[in-house]
Amino acid sequence: MSATSRYRAGRHFLQIPGPSNVPDRVLRALAQPVIDHRGPDFPNLTLPLLDKLRKVFVTTSEVFIYPASGTGAWECALLNVLSPGDRVLAFETGHFATLWKKVAEKLELSVLWVPGDWRHGIDPDLVEEKLVADKAHTIKAVLAVHTETSTGITSRIPQIRAAIDKSNHPALLMVDAVSSLACSEFRQDEWGIDVTISASQKGLMLPPGLAFNAVSAAALNQAKHSSSLHAYWHWDTMLEHNARGYFPYTPSTNLLFGLNEALDMILQEGLDNVIARHARFAAATRAAVKAWGLHNVCLNSAEYCNSTTAVEVPDDADALRQLILERFDLSLGTGLGKFQGKIFRIGHLGDLNELMLLGTLGGVEMGLQLRSLGQSGGVQAAMELLAESADTI
Ligand SMILES: *Cc1c(COP(=O)(O)O)cnc(C)c1O
Repeated sequence: MSATSRYRAGRHFLQIPGPSNVPDRVLRALAQPVIDHRGPDFPNLTLPLLDKLRKVFVTTSEVFIYPASGTGAWECALLNVLSPGDRVLAFETGHFATLWKKVAEKLELSVLWVPGDWRHGIDPDLVEEKLVADKAHTIKAVLAVHTETSTGITSRIPQIRAAIDKSNHPALLMVDAVSSLACSEFRQDEWGIDVTISASQKGLMLPPGLAFNAVSAAALNQAKHSSSLHAYWHWDTMLEHNARGYFPYTPSTNLLFGLNEALDMILQEGLDNVIARHARFAAATRAAVKAWGLHNVCLNSAEYCNSTTAVEVPDDADALRQLILERFDLSLGTGLGKFQGKIFRIGHLGDLNELMLLGTLGGVEMGLQLRSLGQSGGVQAAMELLAESADTI
């Protein structure tokens, strides 16, 4: 029998940086019978759900839900706010920033692209420099990926906001928080973000399939002047229907059931506690990587990432991942774009506890040993960090 069709006891370890593990509570919520999305009960689902969602984005403004992946949310944000020919400023932090840029170019936006080394987040000084140089204010928006999931690096959005303010430039700030929402501190209103892009399958612990745009009043206003041609993504029709607890077309009813349950879980644990748990697990993972004698892709400790840790390996990283999958039924994230085959990524986001993390790190450590890579002691280092920080939770 081949290795892939072999019966495997116990649960698969899905430790890629999204989709993340879906908790049993959410799975059960997803399994409810479908209800009439135009019926009288539907607003009882939608209206509280939108309020809870606002709490996770830490905003009082609108959050729109679309049946799509994160890529749809990128496109939706760009279409609503901008018009073909508009200039946007974007930064090459890694694979996802590059994909977002490609979407922008297909929509005929003119992207002022700042190259990067995939080892650092967005440099706030460069944001300021580029905006100050744009004396005619032709740049309409700054596109920033908060957590660049391909590199495990989190850019400092408050400093980027401060740089925009310092340059006295009216560009809107659009932030991709797909893999940072409910993992890292994120504050839409306080940080002056105009549009936040997110999706269901990362920190929100849901299957893929829901995409979000959280939208400031300024962005809603700018949307009135967009000449982009589109229909499905229009915020104005969404706004009108959402106000009554409905959607302009058939929503993903069961994913909304799941989202409602996931938001209840996050709010019960407390958003700050959820974020602190992620920070602690990320620190434990970094302690393991250090003890293995391997290197984190992230070079700036101020940009360490709560959701995923990307690890360089002096060997074929995909062969290591494949071995770990076959031997230990553990999925790790692959290297994307120019990191393909050079790194692996440990996802530590969403529905995760200490023993799941240690199991994951144990699988990595055994895989490293089987391929004679790195040193032992990573799991031990992680356990020590978790024990020392246990009283902080
Ligand atoms: C996962 C992810 C996306 C979304 O990609 P989809 O595959 O379209 O859901 C976008 N940006 C970042 C930073 C991500 O991690």
